[in-house]
Amino acid sequence: MKQHETLPLVPIARGAGAWLYDFDGNRYLDAVSSWWVNLFGHANARINAALHDQLDTLDHVMLAGFTHRPVVELSERLAALAPAGLGHAFYGSDGASATEIALKMSFHYWRNRGFPDKRGFVSLTGSYHGETLGALAVTDVAIFRDTYAPLLNTNALVPCPDPRRGIGIEEAAAALDAHLGRHHATTAALIVEPLVQGASGMVMYDPEYLTLARAITAAHGVHLIADEIMTGFGRTGTLFAWEQAGAPAPDFLCLSKGITGGYLPLSCVLTTDEVYAAFYDDDVARGFLHSHSYTGNPLACRAALAVLDIFRDDDVVAANRERAQRWSAILTPVATHSRVRDFRQRGMIFAWEVDTMRDDFPRWCFSRALEAELLLRPIGRTLYLMPPYIVTDDEMSLLANRLRMILDDA
Ligand SMILES: *Cc1c(COP(=O)(O)O)cnc(C)c1O
Repeated sequence: MKQHETLPLVPIARGAGAWLYDFDGNRYLDAVSSWWVNLFGHANARINAALHDQLDTLDHVMLAGFTHRPVVELSERLAALAPAGLGHAFYGSDGASATEIALKMSFHYWRNRGFPDKRGFVSLTGSYHGETLGALAVTDVAIFRDTYAPLLNTNALVPCPDPRRGIGIEEAAAALDAHLGRHHATTAALIVEPLVQGASGMVMYDPEYLTLARAITAAHGVHLIADEIMTGFGRTGTLFAWEQAGAPAPDFLCLSKGITGGYLPLSCVLTTDEVYAAFYDDDVARGFLHSHSYTGNPLACRAALAVLDIFRDDDVVAANRERAQRWSAILTPVATHSRVRDFRQRGMIFAWEVDTMRDDFPRWCFSRALEAELLLRPIGRTLYLMPPYIVTDDEMSLLANRLRMILDDA
């Protein structure tokens, strides 16, 4: 709040498409999809229509002892779209709860199966899985973690492949294999952000790592949790990033962010028959007890169904593949700018490092971008674009031109 004395909050009055409008008539192109959640623009007519209809039908009902149409339909459709074998859905209200659910469910699975010592987790260097205590314990981003470290369980870190730091796929996989070789008896699961680590600065790695990690975890009897909270719903070029690995499904798939097109908080953890069966028991304590008041909220589920309709009706994944190519061409003048290092792209995510002497780069850039009618949120010196999929080529050109101006001043 102290910093906002010099950099006031931007009060937003309304949104339309890729644009946000403030009360003074200024507009901002939402180049980061409002923290990676918006897929099809603000005030999307189709999502709005579905929500209007749902409002007049059923606002909310508890999901204990009751069920409702949107949650049943969403569960069936997600199971059909996800990597094969993930036929069971558990709902939460945000990404961090999805992480908590997957961690708890993995631990509880092993406990029910007679392996109570399997309670450790492994994550990758630079991982981000949310900021509640369990999720933060598998997160490796110092700014979020360090203050609360005394409250967190200790978990293991293994290297994330990163071509920029010379960490190859084979080397990272060998480190995972060596770690699990020693600690599989006390390890419940490995948790990964498939293909792109978002919050630590858009680290992009090859799908081959996921294939190897799947084989290694399976060989050591350790679960694999794929945190697709950011990468899911078309962001990396396929509906789910995991598809690019061509490997058997993970044991848990965590979804949130884009699931409702950026409209309402919702998360979902998909899992297998094998995991489900471990909880199927007369004894309630062996069941998975994890409750949130708004679990499976009908409005949020209905928004998610509208999002899936758009994916189907507009063949969004195929359209995005072409869009990504066109955008990549439009962004060439940015990629080749003299201040740009390590320009990289995965599907609908573009990222690069800015070679600048400014210590205050993130704040300076955010503020400079507002003047240029852009919403940008650098992570350190990493600048990235994660636009809604409905951005037009003209809007992308405007973005590219303004980015060049900002880079000139950086
Ligand atoms: C955003 C994010 C989360 C946390 O989601 P919240 O809804 O912010 O709690 C977890 N994992 C990944 C990969 C994310 O990008």
